[in-house]
Amino acid sequence: MPRPSFLPAPSLCASLVAFAIVGLPAASVAGPTDADLVAAGKNKSEWLMYGRSYDNQRFSPLTQVKQANVKGLRPVWSATLDSLDGLEATPVVEGGVMYVTGAHAHVFAFDAVNGRRLWQWAPEEPEGLGTVLCCGPVNRGVAIHGDHVYVLTLDARVVALDKATGKVAWEKVIDDWQAGYSATGAPLVVKGKVIVGIAGGEYGVRGYIRAYDAKTGDLAWTTYTIPGPGEPGNESWPGDTWKTGGGATWQSGAFDPALNLLYWGTSNPGPWTSNLRPGDNKWTASLVAMNPDTGVIQWGFQYTPNDGWDYDGNNTPILADITLNGKPVKAALQSNRNGFFYVLDRTNGKFLYATPTVEGINWTTGLDPVTGRPAVNEAMRPLADGKPVVPIIPGLEGGTNWFPMAFNPETKIAFVPTNTWAMSLTGYKSEDIKYEPGKVYMGMDYKMHTLGGPIGRLRAFDVEKRKWLWEIPSPLPVFAGVLATKSGLVFTGDQLGFFYAADAKTGKVLWKYQTGSGINASPVTYEIGGKQYVAILSGLGGDPGFYFSAPKGNSLVVFALDNMPAGKAGAGEWGVTDIEGALTPVPK
Ligand code: CA
Repeated sequence: MPRPSFLPAPSLCASLVAFAIVGLPAASVAGPTDADLVAAGKNKSEWLMYGRSYDNQRFSPLTQVKQANVKGLRPVWSATLDSLDGLEATPVVEGGVMYVTGAHAHVFAFDAVNGRRLWQWAPEEPEGLGTVLCCGPVNRGVAIHGDHVYVLTLDARVVALDKATGKVAWEKVIDDWQAGYSATGAPLVVKGKVIVGIAGGEYGVRGYIRAYDAKTGDLAWTTYTIPGPGEPGNESWPGDTWKTGGGATWQSGAFDPALNLLYWGTSNPGPWTSNLRPGDNKWTASLVAMNPDTGVIQWGFQYTPNDGWDYDGNNTPILADITLNGKPVKAALQSNRNGFFYVLDRTNGKFLYATPTVEGINWTTGLDPVTGRPAVNEAMRPLADGKPVVPIIPGLEGGTNWFPMAFNPETKIAFVPTNTWAMSLTGYKSEDIKYEPGKVYMGMDYKMHTLGGPIGRLRAFDVEKRKWLWEIPSPLPVFAGVLATKSGLVFTGDQLGFFYAADAKTGKVLWKYQTGSGINASPVTYEIGGKQYVAILSGLGGDPGFYFSAPKGNSLVVFALDNMPAGKAGAGEWGVTDIEGALTPVPK
């Protein structure tokens, strides 16, 4: 959903920028093994990957910060992350070090106790890159494994950095950014492979998921989300439309080690004008499950066949073991842009049930109760005819956009950020829709609309009882991820700048803190030396920056209970050990 005239990214220094500081904390540099990552959910103190564990539940077993004392949370250190272009990342914490990204795929390593900056790295960006970024120069975080920190860059590279120094260990070009491929998601390391997705669903890419050897960067496999000629599903694309059909993979995935299945969501098809590609257009706007060793797709579930509304299906699924109708179910949960919260059987992709997350959905008259297939309200389908269709509910930002929900596996409650709004879509006339590499290939103009009342809501949903429990409204759209803790707290943020904690049972806000800018990132919690910390990035940018003005910002704030030992919290130096630039010693 590109802003029509996105400003080019500011050009950075010509060479790779990296500085490292002597004297790292006694952190284990050879970091998590494959087995450590599989056990990440049981690791109480650290936060080893984007969704905390392969199931993406974002549920922490830590209990020091609880309802009775959450009012005592105070900032203990903060840091700035270089640019005002929006912060969307989830930090990763391991061995006493926090690894986090700012905009433009800048990577930072901090001492997670005192905020001392250990190293930072910034990729070179080519001139003109801004024209292929639909939604701002954002990045959603790193992955770690062994000696490396992995990050994806806006010009579609995967880079492995040395964990101790921030120096490049290896890097690979994933694709040609000038053809509209870019990368903003957090990679996922599974069984010694770095799994990456790409963006470009608004630029006519053909989406894929790709795996690289974590140690060497050698390409292991590539799986296209759109089947080629002769492959099952290619018949759902007329002619050559599959070649430029979208199905981008711009978020992170999930992994079930017991089933040996890797799950990844896919974007809208291209162009947006669905009558130019009659058919289901598999596997766009879908969830696909793959064998992580080979990349071979085992099954797909399509949320929105023949999508015409930019209802990307990318939102990272949560894997949850629940009981439905008295039977244990291995489920995959996803809150979709199209306005429905889906519960699928993750062993085979079968639809179990779905429930609307917002009121007034009108692009469909309902989902088939057995298959989940939507019955499309054709009056709400924009065509390549120059005629506006309005109001379509939900607007293309969703429902729920990319910001991750959380799930408490003990209470079976999902905490779901949602937005209730509408859009108008006006398809171009078909003769005016042409594919050109690196150019926007939407074939449509859009506008988002309010419906009156609050847009944003954090909502709690009992996945087993199929019941919405409470909600916290916000006048502006919400774009922050969620953290749930075993102590019965839910943390998230809003566009008014508040980072807050609510009672997971009632939705009562128990504590909040003004961070100074809109929050579009996802909180984490970790424990070091017997002290629990909670961290969040604050900085308006990305899509919400298109729709309203609010103070820009750029900060990482870390909180703990206020009985910190004096002289410890926030006592980290900047880490600058050499005076450089215009300052020189007095001549002798
Ligand atoms: Ca899209």
